[in-house]
Amino acid sequence: TVRTRIAPSPTGDPHVGTAYVALFNLCFARQHGGQFILRIEDTDQARSTPESEQDILRALRWLGLNWDEGPDVGGPFGPYRQSERKDSYRQYALDLVDKGHAYYCFRTPEELDAIREERKAQGLNPGIKGDLELPEAEVQRRLAAGEPYVIRMKVPDEGICEIDDMLRGTIEIDWAQVDCQILLKSDGMPTYHLANVVDDHLMGITHVLRGEEWINSAPKHKLLYQYFGWEMPVLCHLPLLRNPDKSKLSKRKNPTSITFYERMGFLPEAVTNYLGRMGWSMPDEREKFSLDEMIASFDIQRVSLGGPVFDVEKLRWLNGQWLREDVSDDQFIERLKQWWFNEDALRELIPHIKGRAEVFSDIAPMAAFMFSGMLNLTPEHFHHNKVAEDQVKRVLQFTLWRLEAQRHWSKDNIFADIKALAKAMDMKMGDFMFAIFVAVAGTPNSWSVMDSMALLGPDMTRSRLRHALE
Ligand code: ATP
Ligand code: GLU
Repeated sequence: TVRTRIAPSPTGDPHVGTAYVALFNLCFARQHGGQFILRIEDTDQARSTPESEQDILRALRWLGLNWDEGPDVGGPFGPYRQSERKDSYRQYALDLVDKGHAYYCFRTPEELDAIREERKAQGLNPGIKGDLELPEAEVQRRLAAGEPYVIRMKVPDEGICEIDDMLRGTIEIDWAQVDCQILLKSDGMPTYHLANVVDDHLMGITHVLRGEEWINSAPKHKLLYQYFGWEMPVLCHLPLLRNPDKSKLSKRKNPTSITFYERMGFLPEAVTNYLGRMGWSMPDEREKFSLDEMIASFDIQRVSLGGPVFDVEKLRWLNGQWLREDVSDDQFIERLKQWWFNEDALRELIPHIKGRAEVFSDIAPMAAFMFSGMLNLTPEHFHHNKVAEDQVKRVLQFTLWRLEAQRHWSKDNIFADIKALAKAMDMKMGDFMFAIFVAVAGTPNSWSVMDSMALLGPDMTRSRLRHALE
């Protein structure tokens, strides 16, 4: 039976690209009566966080993209989190050393850089190749001495690797371009390549649909399947999502986090529908369709390789269609409650509005920014008699950079970031905060903007700062 998977790395916000690839894997599996699996690839321990994993699972569920096996639902091939399988990968790397397909490498990154430079200077291929393998006695001596090492797979020095792709036919990649990939890192953890191939095999994955950014990894994967003597899944590299200017979708030009769209009040059906239109169309070309309809008509060959443009304006239009045509008045009320107008959300607002209001009608104007998307701001909003225009820009830009790197969103952490920045820029807190207030709340006279940012969440806060910089 057909088995597909989505294998996100929990290193950041849940990306719309992940949802797009998940959607196509789900449709392909369902259409063939197969299974769709979710596996968490968290071997990069420094960058992976449990919060990010939770956010990814929650975001995919919100979109209605449900999996048959995964870390939260279990299944016969678990565990579905690579950090819980980490002890098994080492043996596979050692097996390849035994078979002569991989070798121990003791070089430091600095030594490798020097080797590359020297080879370049001599007009040679600067790649890291099998000639770095040491004689067996030397390897044993260094291992016994406890020197740190990695294990690298051997790749051919030359020749052509042919990769068969469901959409692209045969792709040819020159082996000279491919380095002897590290399989096991010096900390004993596997790299993406080893863990991904081992797990796809052990989990019985038959088809790998993933972003085209992985094409260059395919030769290494193909070789690993050969070395292990395993059958390789069928590969299909989907076109990457693009900004309206055709560059690769990036958060500087488009919000890329699924939670942003949820926070903005998009309908999950509309977002999933729109992702289904990324490079794909219904046989009758209709623009609005449900997930079930997409599954019923799915045909991977209908994917077109021209870069699909993720255009928020088009998504808004489609969302409007869904809202008007598919959401009854009763559902409208329910959805609105789910979105923001519910007891939990109001309870969070009370400490900020109760002390400032005299009558209920005071509340709407002072809380409107909490329920809004992007604010309508003009340069006049940012006029301040002590902070010059370019200084306002710097405050916004540096704050945005700082908050983009903030992994644990809380009032205390935001406050610490901002305080450190104000100090570094030698500005009084009040002067520094002015631009932040305007960008986030639309006015310098709102309640604590730290609280507002904590409540608005990372996606909406960062988007407003970006918007203010435009
Ligand atoms: P960038 O920094 O280039 O904007 P990113 O670093 O935010 O991208 P990653 O964290 O590298 O994104 O990727 C998260 C997931 O989203 C990965 O699975 C990746 O394949 C996917 N992804 C990222 N960009 C795109 C895209 N343009 N189209 C489809 N999938 C994408
Ligand atoms: N962990 C990889 C990612 O983050 C998976 C890539 C693949 O599908 O092979 O996208």
